[in-house]
Amino acid sequence: MKFRILGRTNLKVSEIGLGLEHFHEQPLSSIKPAIDYALEQKINYFDPIYSVTKDLENIQQSFGKRIKDVIFTAHIRSQDTNGQFSKTKNKAEALDVFNKYSEKLKRHSFEIAMLTFVEPNEYGKVMSDQGEYSIAKNLQKEKRIDFIGMSTHDIDVAKKAIINDLIDVLMFPFNFAEWNRKGTMEMIKLCNKNQIGLVTMKPFSGGKLLQPHRLEYMQKYHQDFAPSSITVPTRIQPEMCLKFVLSNPDIHVTLAGAKNYDEIYENMQYTSHKVDIQKYEFIKSIFSKYIPGECVYCNHCLPCLAQLNIGELNKLLDEKDNLEFLDQSLEDKDKKWNSIKQRYNELEHYASECTFCWQCMNRCPYDVDIIQRMIRIKEIFGK
Ligand code: SF4
Ligand code: SF4
Repeated sequence: MKFRILGRTNLKVSEIGLGLEHFHEQPLSSIKPAIDYALEQKINYFDPIYSVTKDLENIQQSFGKRIKDVIFTAHIRSQDTNGQFSKTKNKAEALDVFNKYSEKLKRHSFEIAMLTFVEPNEYGKVMSDQGEYSIAKNLQKEKRIDFIGMSTHDIDVAKKAIINDLIDVLMFPFNFAEWNRKGTMEMIKLCNKNQIGLVTMKPFSGGKLLQPHRLEYMQKYHQDFAPSSITVPTRIQPEMCLKFVLSNPDIHVTLAGAKNYDEIYENMQYTSHKVDIQKYEFIKSIFSKYIPGECVYCNHCLPCLAQLNIGELNKLLDEKDNLEFLDQSLEDKDKKWNSIKQRYNELEHYASECTFCWQCMNRCPYDVDIIQRMIRIKEIFGK
């Protein structure tokens, strides 16, 4: 493992970090070996993102006392509403969330408090004396956090926070598909100039880059070109995605989300596998005009009034759609389809329960047409 210095925090961070949100609803028996392996590989930057009680308890149990030896972020705007992600609305809720992280993870203090997923229309309030930013400031005075971070998908929000010297760490999506998004490279340079620690997320674009023949759409973030689509051209290995992100020295750590040992193992091959340079350049050029607009399963659209796990429903739909591109026998495809259906049936709530309230549509940073997808999911899965 290589280490980098996280900007002005001076923290020495592993260049691969672990996003823990995919441990959601995984059993402890799967989480513990994954954490053991991550620590063995010297990963030292961990980000739980969500504050779902059961998940935090499982994470704590898996780390045990080792949780104090690593760098941990507490997302103070990310709260658990009936097991689903939602954002805090005020200072009191943000403080409660922080205290919950502290209690469940059994850590009195954290290296970083992250203001989660700040959108343009919230910036003024969140970063004011009335907003969650003031809680982060107080926690810093009380020495319960060392640094303040912000996660966002919006370049202008990120720039404002940096220029106004409000944050030490920025968390932002960066991958093959998003590197060319208008303003991204300028923003990265701005981070470097201001010594902001830069943590990037979604190195695999929510896993979509790893799916060959996947049709991708350009929508909201693609300002310079007419809407169009592109097909993921070939099998892209995770190590290629990670090398791509880490080839930028101004990025200090990239959070590779994984849900079990096998996925972390696969990611860690980036250190030993040689990247095929020709293929690498080819992929980079293919995506040079591409910006994603499909679901990346981040669940930033939650909470859903009908308690739907929107990210998971979208993932199951995508897996179903991708079956036709798999180079496998009909029998194997049937087996896969049965397992997708089984996972659907095991969900607590189904797409048919969608009330078309539109609330999720306003929250999705990728402009996914969630309602249309819920209608399709209901048709395909029958409920
Ligand atoms: S619909 Fe949008 S917000 Fe919801 S999981 Fe997908 S990309 Fe994320
Ligand atoms: S539109 Fe449907 S999926 Fe979206 S929040 Fe409302 S009920 Fe949930």
